[in-house]
Amino acid sequence: MNATLETPPAADPPIAPAASNGVPLLSLRGVHKRYVQGVDLAGRIANLLGANNRAAVVHAVDGVDLDVRAGEVIGVVGESGCGKSTLGRVVAGIHPPSAGEVLWEGRPVAQLPPAERRAWNLGVQMIFQNPMASLNPRLRVLDIIGEAPVVHGIIRAREKADYVAALMRQVGLDPDYGQRYPHQFSGGQRQRIGIARALAVRPRMIVCDEAVAALDVSIQAQVLNLFAQLRREHDLTYLFISHNLGVVGHISDRVVIMYLGRIVESAPTEVIFSRPNHPYTRALLAELPTLETQRRDYQPIQGELPSPLAPPAGCTFHPRCPHAMARCKVDVPVLKSVAGGHQSACHLNDAAPAA
Ligand code: SF4
Repeated sequence: MNATLETPPAADPPIAPAASNGVPLLSLRGVHKRYVQGVDLAGRIANLLGANNRAAVVHAVDGVDLDVRAGEVIGVVGESGCGKSTLGRVVAGIHPPSAGEVLWEGRPVAQLPPAERRAWNLGVQMIFQNPMASLNPRLRVLDIIGEAPVVHGIIRAREKADYVAALMRQVGLDPDYGQRYPHQFSGGQRQRIGIARALAVRPRMIVCDEAVAALDVSIQAQVLNLFAQLRREHDLTYLFISHNLGVVGHISDRVVIMYLGRIVESAPTEVIFSRPNHPYTRALLAELPTLETQRRDYQPIQGELPSPLAPPAGCTFHPRCPHAMARCKVDVPVLKSVAGGHQSACHLNDAAPAA
């Protein structure tokens, strides 16, 4: 597949997920992630003078259910602050959920014995937006990529040089550059180092958090093609997080749309682009550069994403929704099936109440 970023979704047919016994590789069940935002210094001083500033709770992820099947690529899309990066960190085990469960091959990870928990930790790797921030500037690339597989007993120390050289070739880097430091590479090359480091521990799943967002458009396409190639070669499963529906459309089998910590729509990629259901998804599509004029029927997003500290009641999208009804300000819409494999959380899908 040769991705270009102007015309989503990808032209290549989706790769069939690897055969499994029907149990998803990873599942989320009712996952919440809350953060307590403490009172800052000014607030504490104001409290000394009689104010009543209190710590606030941010609901970054608010009751998410998700199944990720082996070999599948799921795109997670939403505006900055919608909770998608937090969701990715919960999936990768970087943050524990505040409530709910993460299941690995059908078993709650919180109850896994140590050896299996370690296998899960290595089995889900994360690639970040800014590789410079996640690569140790004092280490040579040979050690950045080769340290973890030696520490975890995946390879012997004497095999490290050959192992790293093979990985560097796979991600399109010259193995002769193994003695260099991260600052001696371009942004696109540094992201390839991050990808090689993730691959080095032989993961089954990779969480890509805005992994191409900091790159030039032409480099974005190259790195997306690399992800697709590695998926085929390593039988990988991806959770591909991006604010850009166009980028996600190039690589994903299925797209999940998030708004203020909740999933509001989930469907196969071609359905999201051809038959979007939720008004928020349509608004995201309206902002996407496209040659297809029919999408211009959708209205772009109005206003700002509300603060997760004080989310609106009812449907949290109602202050920005052109179709909002009185009911939308009170009742929380739940995610319901609107067609095979297609779910949406919008009251417009409910049948009119009987007279
Ligand atoms: Fe708009 Fe109401 Fe649907 Fe929310 S539930 S997206 S406010 S129509």
